[in-house]
Amino acid sequence: MTTTSGPVGAVRQGSLRELNLAVVLGRIAAAERPPSRADLAAETGLTRATVSAVVEDLITGRLVTEAEPAPRAGAGRPARGLVLAGDGPAGLGLEVNVDYLAACVVDLAGRVRHHTVHRADLRPLSPADALTRLVALAVRARADAAAQGLTLAGAALAVPGLVDDAGTVRLAPNLGWRDVPVPALLAGHAPLTERVDGVPPLVVDNEANLAALGELHAGPAAPASFLHITGEVGIGAGIVLDGALFRGTRGWSGEIGHIPVRPEGRPCRCGGRGCLERYAGQEAILAAAGLAEADLPADTAATRLAELAEAGSTAALDALHEAGTALGVAVAAVVNLLDLDTVVLGGGYAPLAPWLRPPVLAEISRRVLTAAWSPVTVRPAALGADAAVVGAAGSVVRRIIAWPSGWLARAA
Ligand SMILES: [Zn+2]
Repeated sequence: MTTTSGPVGAVRQGSLRELNLAVVLGRIAAAERPPSRADLAAETGLTRATVSAVVEDLITGRLVTEAEPAPRAGAGRPARGLVLAGDGPAGLGLEVNVDYLAACVVDLAGRVRHHTVHRADLRPLSPADALTRLVALAVRARADAAAQGLTLAGAALAVPGLVDDAGTVRLAPNLGWRDVPVPALLAGHAPLTERVDGVPPLVVDNEANLAALGELHAGPAAPASFLHITGEVGIGAGIVLDGALFRGTRGWSGEIGHIPVRPEGRPCRCGGRGCLERYAGQEAILAAAGLAEADLPADTAATRLAELAEAGSTAALDALHEAGTALGVAVAAVVNLLDLDTVVLGGGYAPLAPWLRPPVLAEISRRVLTAAWSPVTVRPAALGADAAVVGAAGSVVRRIIAWPSGWLARAA
């Protein structure tokens, strides 16, 4: 990975025109109110004529459109604000998880325009068969996007495992995948092969990383640094530091599910013992609550637990307390190490946050040295259980916003 710093670093060997396109589009994307051409000139230091030419290119390329002018009293034609187009390029997000497949389409402005979830236990399937089902979802998503005037500009796939630079899933213990060459298995499938310069046709990434990115861009409320925990059958974390995902040296950071919370405890699929997953993963919570997984469709596990807890079931409340305590032990270790002040509970943890939060906070206040004078916020994810697939789609459109020239070359 090359070292870049700020927007100029991301520009590579771009021309001045390409740089201006990226700067103006970035301003429009970040603005709280639709800026006029004059606003953009004032903010960027570019001349009015340059801004007008750049904006025309962005409008022609379906990246930007003029907002309806707000009615105003008095004489004079109001300046028209500029907003990201809702009928231009879009990102395709895909997710393979232990018990579901998902696809979604996000437009430039971050709006979800299509979302499908296919529930099935994928563990008995071969990776090739699971990915064939995923392609069917991608094809449907593309058709729906096209019907709304959107063009897919790339795809990102979230998987619950460790992914290398080539997109190979090196290990997804809960799916039973090892060394699965996902890009090769998906090669030749149209929605995943159409290239836009600057936007790879398909990126494969860890679900917890993409979920954390989804949360980071879900709204202005996201802090610059936080820990996002995705609690499913497995437990993964995305670490966001100063507005950027911390991937680690090889992209494999965030395996919080395998932090030991009881070093001589239950054996784990990873080969270790006493891992967090064995005490706070979905299967562990269901077992502790007396709900064998077979009795319950996988998609309803978290909702069912929440209903039982709401109704005052002692078994469910005890199971959630035990899971939250184990989670709090692991979270306290991370907070001690990284000095984070926000922990976001995502995936299947989001609906369970009212019951997981108190024991997590209790362990933080017991174990984090700075907790007494520097409180840690623990809250459910803004995107809930959809964060990974929405974050995946969003990562595609953010690449276009960061480098619009590639898309414009294709659009021309
Ligand atoms: Zn483990």
